[in-house]
Amino acid sequence: MAANLLQKRWRQKGVNITVVESPDIGIIGVGEGSTPLLKEFFDSLDISESEWMPQCNATYKNGISFNNWSTVSGYESYFHPFPCSLDFATFGLLYKYTALRRSGVDVLAHPNRFSLMAGLTQKKLAPLPAENFPFHFQYGYHFDSVLIGKFLRGKAKESGVSHIEGTVETVEQDSDGNIKALKLKNGDILSGDFFIDCSGFASILLQRTLKVPFLSFSENLFNDSAVALPTEIEADAPVETLSTALTNGWAWKIPLTNRFGNGYVFSSQYCSPDEAETELRAHLGVLDSDVEARHLKMKVGRAQESWSKNCLAVGLSQGFIEPLEATALQFVYSTIDQFAQALEQGGFTNEHREAFNEQMNANFEGIRDYIVLHYKTNSRSDSQYWIDNRENQKISENLRAMIECWYGIEDMQEALTRLEIGSYYSQRSWTCLLSGVGIFPRQENLAVPSASDALKAKEDLEYVDHFISGCSMNFESQNKFLGR
Ligand SMILES: Cc1cc2nc3c(=O)[nH]c(=O)nc-3n(C[C@H](O)[C@H](O)[C@H](O)COP(=O)(O)OP(=O)(O)OC[C@H]3O[C@@H](n4cnc5c(N)ncnc54)[C@H](O)[C@@H]3O)c2cc1C
Repeated sequence: MAANLLQKRWRQKGVNITVVESPDIGIIGVGEGSTPLLKEFFDSLDISESEWMPQCNATYKNGISFNNWSTVSGYESYFHPFPCSLDFATFGLLYKYTALRRSGVDVLAHPNRFSLMAGLTQKKLAPLPAENFPFHFQYGYHFDSVLIGKFLRGKAKESGVSHIEGTVETVEQDSDGNIKALKLKNGDILSGDFFIDCSGFASILLQRTLKVPFLSFSENLFNDSAVALPTEIEADAPVETLSTALTNGWAWKIPLTNRFGNGYVFSSQYCSPDEAETELRAHLGVLDSDVEARHLKMKVGRAQESWSKNCLAVGLSQGFIEPLEATALQFVYSTIDQFAQALEQGGFTNEHREAFNEQMNANFEGIRDYIVLHYKTNSRSDSQYWIDNRENQKISENLRAMIECWYGIEDMQEALTRLEIGSYYSQRSWTCLLSGVGIFPRQENLAVPSASDALKAKEDLEYVDHFISGCSMNFESQNKFLGR
């Protein structure tokens, strides 16, 4: 991703880019769901869906369903949709009815009822409306992580990036500590002006060589391990990622064209890798299958700064927030984009490095808080893991303020603006999560709505249902036309 983006941007400026990849070490080989920023990434490179999607076994993703994170009756599952420009027509009503329900009135306030994307997803419709449908939809993808790497390597080479297979053994620095050259296992030396560390969790340049400290997020994100395993794809596969809470973490289920990618993200403090694998197999109904599972360790947190001296870390070497909202590749794209802007604005100097690093750190914290919210609001009591997550008080001040805002029936948008965190996750996302898991006064304490509120609620829901089914027809026809 980095090589392609920078090559496109700087080729005319005479910048030469070389990628070194180790065939001995390989890639992490997971990470198969995206946010809408991956579409922006491919669009920015003028690569069409019809070119890359078939080569990467890719499918469309409307959002993520969160199942069994909550035990509140009627709220055991909810959908977190990607934004669409028609949200304005229904989400205002979601905000209205969640506020009413937060204040103790018994009205329907489940987010799925108010979301067109949730309606489409329930019908397994890809986010492809009829061509004359004049509204913009954001969506993500599912893809094979090995194939997407291969595809992008080919694209980078085609556009003039040099590609070397080799393993970096030592790193040479000058007297100021800047990186001067990389020495490969075969003895070759590669010198350069600027180095982008894409070496994964090893972070051989930024963290190992330049000694930039790693700040762990383990005090509020407990998961440090994962086990992954494929299963057979179904004929009528979903257009969403499924995230299902298990005993000590959660399982992902990602539909590709040829298989499901599955995995269990868990905390090794609460269960062993063998226990996690057995639970995942049982969850998938493949206890007796001999398909091999892959076990992975995750380093969750961030480098103190992403850009130090003449080195920028991108991807896992820069930091990683666990994959619950599939944000890592979005982070790669925004890191490269913002870095390129900062470097260009400073005339290819370090002038804007500090501001860039502050922005990256704020991005990490902003996304991290929303991920922590999933754990903080769980209502499961079947294991110590879920109880500890719910009772954990080590959360950021911003997250605390947002939770207080919800309970205090204050305006969520006003709070996001005041805290300057609305660009990470919007009112839509916060409301979907908090109402989706049923953070409301208990059912037995709810008051019956007044006659006029009840009538208005009924009319509003009829309008929403009508609106969603009317819009869905545009998608049904196009999905059918495309043979989906
Ligand atoms: C369990 C899990 C689930 C995930 N799910 C998602 C998801 O749904 N969505 C998402 O966006 N992201 C997800 N991610 C993150 C995603 O996998 C990564 O962000 C993405 O794959 C990029 O990884 P990377 O390139 O930084 O590291 P890697 O894939 O580890 O690549 C590192 C590269 O550096 C090379 N290298 C390392 N050391 C050397 C050396 N000494 N010399 C030469 N080369 C070297 C390796 O050969 C390799 O090519 C997930 C991660 C995990 C752990």
